[in-house]
Amino acid sequence: MYSQSRRKRRRRRKKRTSRFLFLILEIILLVVLLYVAYQVLSQKDPIEVAHSIEENGDYPEWIDVQYIDEGNPSRVGEQLDGINDIVIHYVGNPGTTAQQNRDFYNHMDSNVCSHFVVGIDGEVIQCLPLYEKSEASNDRNHDTISIEVCHPDEEGKFTDESYQSLIKLVDWLMDEFDLDTDHVIRHYDVTGKECPRYYVRNEDAWEQFKRDL
Ligand SMILES: [Zn+2]
Repeated sequence: MYSQSRRKRRRRRKKRTSRFLFLILEIILLVVLLYVAYQVLSQKDPIEVAHSIEENGDYPEWIDVQYIDEGNPSRVGEQLDGINDIVIHYVGNPGTTAQQNRDFYNHMDSNVCSHFVVGIDGEVIQCLPLYEKSEASNDRNHDTISIEVCHPDEEGKFTDESYQSLIKLVDWLMDEFDLDTDHVIRHYDVTGKECPRYYVRNEDAWEQFKRDL
């Protein structure tokens, strides 16, 4: 009699414990599901973000917007498939200004063009809307934003002014398109081309740049 009621009690306790564990498990599962749903719903399509920046004129005031003429061979006018990386280049033409490079892209003889050109004095010119494909990064034109940077000499090292503006620009883009520094790459990382030269020849300078972002 005595042992029977003890067994019953034990069984009841066991049942209660398993019900409690099950409830905890259900709560954990619910929290995980809600988190996943939140992540999926809060993920913004980068092309939609790019269109909304354009429509609202949400560009920082330090960006000088001077789009390449529509119909120019440099401006293919196609929409990007996505924005997965930001590609850094050097213009490869020492001593030229951002304006000269932008005007070169706008020339009917040119069929290259980046989204941005950063000048020796730190000026930033935008050549294309953020949702359009540029002609700068070969196989990755379809899903990247490209930035060309001017430089005073053949070595290809950026001036302090260019460097600071480039950081400001890349930071802004990373923020808008929810990218981290793993998504900031060199033209070299796409094709093996020595571009941007100084930051290909000096791997530590490139790593430092990413740390500075
Ligand atoms: Zn390049």
